[in-house]
Amino acid sequence: MDCLFCKIIAGEIPSTKVYEDELVYAFEDINPQAPVHVLVIPKTHIASAADITGENSALVAHIFEVIPGIAKKLGLKNGFRVVTNCGDDGAQTVKHLHFHIMGGRPLQGQMG
Ligand code: 5GP
Ligand code: ZN
Repeated sequence: MDCLFCKIIAGEIPSTKVYEDELVYAFEDINPQAPVHVLVIPKTHIASAADITGENSALVAHIFEVIPGIAKKLGLKNGFRVVTNCGDDGAQTVKHLHFHIMGGRPLQGQMG
């Protein structure tokens, strides 16, 4: 499959790993929008939040279970933002489900 994030998971494209387990990979965003900007992705290809079903939602729950530990490791003591962009109107550019973790400065109240 011609998917950028599947290639990152496979190690075919280099990335800076922040966290990994059997289900999830987290790495630094190549174009950070905040002092800390990490992407958390399932190792299984799910195209977007529009493709979450009863069959794969446990994986999404697992992602949210590991996010607090990742945030702690990144030193995000004052909070952080978790965002997923979905589809064209949601400005999703990589069609492999990913959750942005952003922080390290006070973020604007609106999403843009
Ligand atoms: P989206 O716009 O789909 O929500 O977010 C995609 C994110 O992937 C963007 O923040 C972009 O900077 C990041 N990104 C795109 N290509 C690469 C890459 O090759 N390596 C890494 N680490 N991040 C990437
Ligand atoms: Zn993929």
